Amino acid sequence: MTLCIALIVAGGTGQRFGAERPKQYLDLAGKPILRRTVEAFLSHPRVSSVQVVIDPARRDLYDAAVAGLGLPEPVAGGATRQDSVRNGLEALATRGGCDAVLIHDAARPLVDADTIAAVIAALEHAPGAIAAVPLADTLKRGADGTVAGTVDRDGLWRAQTPQGFRFADILAAHRDAAGLSLTDDAAVAERAGLAVALVPAKEENFKVTTPDDLTRAARVLTASQGASLGDIRTGTGFDVHRFTDGEFVTLCGLRVPHTHGLEGHSDADVGLHALTDAILGALAAGDIGSHFPPSDPQWRGADSARFLRHAADLVAARGGVIAHTDITIICERPKVGPHRAAMAARVAEILGIAPDRVSVKATTTERLGFTGRGEGIAAQAAATIRLPG
Ligand code: MG
Repeated sequence: MTLCIALIVAGGTGQRFGAERPKQYLDLAGKPILRRTVEAFLSHPRVSSVQVVIDPARRDLYDAAVAGLGLPEPVAGGATRQDSVRNGLEALATRGGCDAVLIHDAARPLVDADTIAAVIAALEHAPGAIAAVPLADTLKRGADGTVAGTVDRDGLWRAQTPQGFRFADILAAHRDAAGLSLTDDAAVAERAGLAVALVPAKEENFKVTTPDDLTRAARVLTASQGASLGDIRTGTGFDVHRFTDGEFVTLCGLRVPHTHGLEGHSDADVGLHALTDAILGALAAGDIGSHFPPSDPQWRGADSARFLRHAADLVAARGGVIAHTDITIICERPKVGPHRAAMAARVAEILGIAPDRVSVKATTTERLGFTGRGEGIAAQAAATIRLPG
């Protein structure tokens, strides 16, 4: 299947949930549920594009939820879910269709990449394939609050989404079933005589239906994020450069006018050197000198932002993130205070992290020692990184 489009059904009014807005637009750990759902498919290497079907009366909520994702115009849903899906399929058909379509509930934001891949893979062998979970609980038939019988659960599955189909097949099946009331797209396919494969999925791919589900989804997300970057490490760095003739020093990526310059092979930015070493230290990946030997003429006068970015790239290459950095500049002069905010902003920019994850501080040594005598500037830094593990 070369061209695979995800059709996200987000037309529901979510009356069962009882919130002030349809549940697909509620916040889940900092993002609207719909956005998380869309992102799960947009980021999947085998999904070409994402089409959402919405209730046009909620267009404002939709626009806010998917801002910046570059989605095509949403399709207006119909009176029932089945109508909404058919509208979505017809809209795709007018744009030339596709090989495969994955129909997915907006309210299943925790769908994982493996499940999406498995449903697409199953379409190589069957015209339809659905994510589903084998029934684990014993089923009871009830009557007036008492057990009237035990239902054999053998061979029973709970159907989830995504439900994937070869596009032409499901479009024809939906057109033929228009006006009927079938519970899911697999039922539409079954009615048309299409074989539908069962793809074992995960319990976490549950549908957010009640406020308790929303709490559960937030817990799942927090746990998986914490567990996936659970290798938390701290590194430290220290650097000194001597004053020499000059009219400015470079500190944390900023030119600060001064009566002297700093001597060094590169731009002699002590702040960035200390921080680069801190990050390399957290990675246990040597030091700045081993990555950028001072004997190598290509680093003469180099912008130290380059060294720092290299260290940040090494963290990213390991699948990690930089959680926090803290730099202390030690000197009597120049005064660092007036430049602190700009320095922190520049470091955040180089690292590609939020400014509130970067701290720049300064201190003197009470005129003691080499910094106290104004012979040079020292800097120390700490970096906390999170790696998968
Ligand atoms: Mg240095």
